[in-house]
Amino acid sequence: TGLEVSLAVLNTYTCDWISKYYSPAVESAVHSVLGQKCRVRITVDPEATVPPAPAPRESRPPLDSGPSAGAPPALAPGAGLLWNSDVVLNHKYTFENFVVGPCNRFAHAAAVGSGERPGKNYNPFFLHGRVGVGKTHLLQALCFSILERDPSARILYLSCETFVNHFISALENGDLDGFRTKYRNVDVLVVDDIHILANKERTQEEFFHTFNTLYQAGKQLVLSSDSPPKDIPTLQERLVSRFRWGMVTEIEPPCYETRMAIVKRKSRDQGRELPDTVAQLIAEQIDQNVRELEGAVTRLLGFSSLTGKPLTLELAREALGDLLQANHGAPTMDDIISAVTSKYGVKLSELQSKRRTKSITHPRQVAMFLARRITRHSLEEVGGFFGGRDHSTVIYAVDRVSKAVRSDPEVRKQVEGLLGRLGAPSDGRL
Ligand code: ADP
Ligand code: MG
Repeated sequence: TGLEVSLAVLNTYTCDWISKYYSPAVESAVHSVLGQKCRVRITVDPEATVPPAPAPRESRPPLDSGPSAGAPPALAPGAGLLWNSDVVLNHKYTFENFVVGPCNRFAHAAAVGSGERPGKNYNPFFLHGRVGVGKTHLLQALCFSILERDPSARILYLSCETFVNHFISALENGDLDGFRTKYRNVDVLVVDDIHILANKERTQEEFFHTFNTLYQAGKQLVLSSDSPPKDIPTLQERLVSRFRWGMVTEIEPPCYETRMAIVKRKSRDQGRELPDTVAQLIAEQIDQNVRELEGAVTRLLGFSSLTGKPLTLELAREALGDLLQANHGAPTMDDIISAVTSKYGVKLSELQSKRRTKSITHPRQVAMFLARRITRHSLEEVGGFFGGRDHSTVIYAVDRVSKAVRSDPEVRKQVEGLLGRLGAPSDGRL
């Protein structure tokens, strides 16, 4: 017979692989659905669009694409993300595997809440925090929980970079319509690391329209970023305000108790129990980044099983030497105070006093800003250092300095100089 089914895949690698190993399986699957034999043709189409959303779910055909729709099924085998997402969900990134502590309790609860009623509870859901604190983990856990309730939910999960690249190539090819169909025909749009939109005016413009279309249709938007919306450089005010419409929540670096719990959990997951002293050493010294914490546990366990040595403090120091030292040198509150007092020619007692003259308030605010940026001290702790000020004063100070850094080149220079001196250069991002 002349019937032919054509399947589009994203790249030649996939095309070759499927043709080579899965042709018979695909052909027999097609045969069993259509009840007749037909030729299966695999084609490459990096810009293939998502088939339009089926209207009522009940009347959906067994496969998303009809016999000659030219587009592959929207869902991977079993429930999953839309096929043109740029990640595959990591089965370890679930809510169950996420260790909850004071630093991330709120973010965790908000993610659980968004997953329960996508598009309704918190929209958009905007999660921010430094690198390695668990943003991607929570985003993927949220996707799992949505898919658990509704395996047919159409979730498009992308890194912001992919969004930018697709947009640029759509512009080049004059195919904005195709681009728009792809991004707007989804139930949930997840964009990881949205701060990449910084300084990309034209893509921001397009994202603004994508956002509006999805939002107005009651679809869920989930975004992660390394900083709160207002701190993303040059982010258009209208995007900043939209990102704040729903739930903006921060994951802070984990406190000591949470780090202990994570270390123990990660080693148990790998089938070993760490002695308390060893777990304490790791949790004390690696204090900013969960990915590093996890890496330390894996390295130590690997080291122990390769050498056959027991898990002692000594072995931990040997296996983790460089990791431990690198973190040990992180600037402390004292380092910040001595850098700030010498830079501005003020005394610590003045920073801690109630004086409100500009020559004192400015260095005080800069010091608070630096403390929040490069140490793990909480708002309360930072306020405490500076004469028992409360957390709202610290928030205000950080906000003032963040703004000044963007509007006043002189302040920017001061802050960059201080960051460099403290061994925490800004790399141009403030
Ligand atoms: P981010 O996206 O914020 O840079 P990730 O989500 O990639 O960070 O997290 C880095 C690693 O640390 C991942 O392997 C993740 O599973 C793990 N991780 C982060 N936070 C937690 C947590 N609270 N409990 C368990 N694992 C965590
Ligand atoms: Mg991430």
